[in-house]
Amino acid sequence: GPKDYQFMLRLKQPAGELPPDLYRLLDDLSLNHGQGDLRATTRQCFQMHGILKGDLKTVISSIMNIGSSTVGACGDVSRNVMTTPAPFVSSDYEYAREYSKCFGQLFRPLSSAFSEIWLDGEKAVSVETWAKEVEHHNIDEKMLYDNGRGIIIPDATEPIYGDQYLPRKFKIGVTVPGDNSLDIYTNDIGVVVITNDAGELEGFNVMVGGGMGRLHNKETTFARAADHMGFVPKDDIWEVMKAILAAQRDHGNRDVRANARMKYLVHTLGIEKFTKLVESYCGVEIQPWRAMADWKYNDWMGWWEQGDGKLFYGQHIDNGRVKDEGDFRLKSALRVLVDKYNLHSILSPTQSIIFRDIDPKDKEGIEQVLREHGIAPIEEVDPNARLAMACPALPLCGLAQTEAERIMPSYIERMRALLTKMNLDDEEILMRMTGCPNGCARPYMAELAFVGDGAKSYQVWLGGSPVLTRTAYPFMSKMDTDKLEETMEPILAMFIQQRQEFEAFGDFCHRLGADAISAYTQNYTLG
Ligand code: SF4
Repeated sequence: GPKDYQFMLRLKQPAGELPPDLYRLLDDLSLNHGQGDLRATTRQCFQMHGILKGDLKTVISSIMNIGSSTVGACGDVSRNVMTTPAPFVSSDYEYAREYSKCFGQLFRPLSSAFSEIWLDGEKAVSVETWAKEVEHHNIDEKMLYDNGRGIIIPDATEPIYGDQYLPRKFKIGVTVPGDNSLDIYTNDIGVVVITNDAGELEGFNVMVGGGMGRLHNKETTFARAADHMGFVPKDDIWEVMKAILAAQRDHGNRDVRANARMKYLVHTLGIEKFTKLVESYCGVEIQPWRAMADWKYNDWMGWWEQGDGKLFYGQHIDNGRVKDEGDFRLKSALRVLVDKYNLHSILSPTQSIIFRDIDPKDKEGIEQVLREHGIAPIEEVDPNARLAMACPALPLCGLAQTEAERIMPSYIERMRALLTKMNLDDEEILMRMTGCPNGCARPYMAELAFVGDGAKSYQVWLGGSPVLTRTAYPFMSKMDTDKLEETMEPILAMFIQQRQEFEAFGDFCHRLGADAISAYTQNYTLG
C-alpha cells in the first residue's frame, strides 16, 4: 500500500533544544513534504510522519544544512540523551544540560553506516554542530582514550561500539536532584548532577538498568526501574560511562533480541556484580550513592522565572501532536510565536514544548497569540490530561495492537466523569497508554496504565509512583475498551474507603497490591 513509500524521520535534538530557524524549517517541511503535522516524542525530539520516499533526500539535506542531524537517531546505538527541559539559569541545571550534550557526543556513531540507511549511500551535506560545552570537554580525545582495559576496540569501525554496535538501543538521561520530569529510572544509564553548596560540580549519582519494553505472555521480559549504582567523581565520569556501555556491548544478550537491553544484564548479574564488571573496565571504584533531595515530578508547563530576569513558558501539547484542528490552531500559534519573538524552544520528555529566554514584557503578547488561536491557558487544562501520555500506535506504528493516542482524550474525559461521579474530583492520576507492550510512552511507570493487548482491549497496570520511581504491576488483561468505568469504579471505591491521608492513587495501589484489590473489586456491586 501507499504506506510502503512513506517514511518517518526523527531528529536528534541534544537536550531537546530547537533553535528558531530549525523550528521554522521543520514547520515548513511538515507542510510541504510530510502529512502536515509534527509530533513531539517522549524522548525530546520531533518526528515527521508521511514523508514520501522521493522527498526524503530534500528533507534530510535541508535539515542538515541548518545544523541538526538525523544521523544516529535510530539503530542499536545511544539514542537522544534526555535531560530536564527546565531552562533554569543555575549551576546544577546548566551542568545537566552541558553533560547531556557531551554524553550525546561521546556516544555518537562515527561511521556513516547510519546515514546511509536514509541516503542510499549518496553523500548529503553533513554539518556537525558542536556546542561550546562539548568542545570544552575535548570529547573526541575522551572517546578515543584507551586505558588498556578493553573499553576501546582499536581496529573497529566504531572504537566504542565495535563492529557490531550494541545488542540493542541504549538510552541515557541526565538531571538534577529532585527533578524527575524525564522519567530518569527508565534509562539504561541515569545520571544525576551533584554539586556542592557553592554550586560547584562534584560528580554524579549514576543509576543503571532501567527500561520499559516487554512482551505479553513472556515472563522473561519485563519493565524495570534502574538500580542506584553509586557516586562517580566528575573527572572519572567519562571512563565510567564508557565502561558501562562496554559492559553491555561485551556481555549483553545478543542471542535473544527480546532480552538484549542492558536491564536484563543488570538484572541477571545483580547490581553488585554489574558494578564490579564496570569497575573492571574503567579501573575506577564506584563510591556509595550520595543522599539527595526527594524526587518530584513536574511538567514545567505555564510561566516560570528562569533565574536571570527572563521567563520560560511551557505549552502543553496533547500527546505531542502539533496540529491545527478547527478552531484549535496550535501549529499556527507556535509558528507565529517563533516568528514574532524569535523564540528558542525545548521539547519536554512528556511531549510538550517550552519556550525559553522570554522577555517579561512579551508575556502578554504571547498569551494573546495563544488565545487568538483557540489555545486554552494551562489552568484550564484537565490536570489528568497534563499528566497523561499516549504513544502514536494506530495508524502510524506497525507494532500497534490497538489505539492509543487517538483514544486517550476520550479516556481522560471518561475518567474525569467517573472521578466527578465518585466525588474524587481533586485527585490527579498519572495515566499512560500504549498500543502494544513495547512501552514507548513509558506506561509501566504510571499510576494507572493501559497497554494494548488486543484489537479492542488493554492490559491494566496499577501502582506506579506519582514521582515515577518504580514500576507498576499488571492488574488485569483484556479489559474491553468499553469497560473502563466498570473496571475503575470498584478500584476507586476501595481507594476512597482504605486510602491513608494524602495517599496518591498509585501509592495506594502499590501498598495494597493486586491480590487485595482483586478481592475487593470482585465483591463490589457497581453503583
Ligand atoms: Fe508502537 Fe507499541 Fe511504541 Fe506504541 S508502544 S508506538 S504501539 S511500538
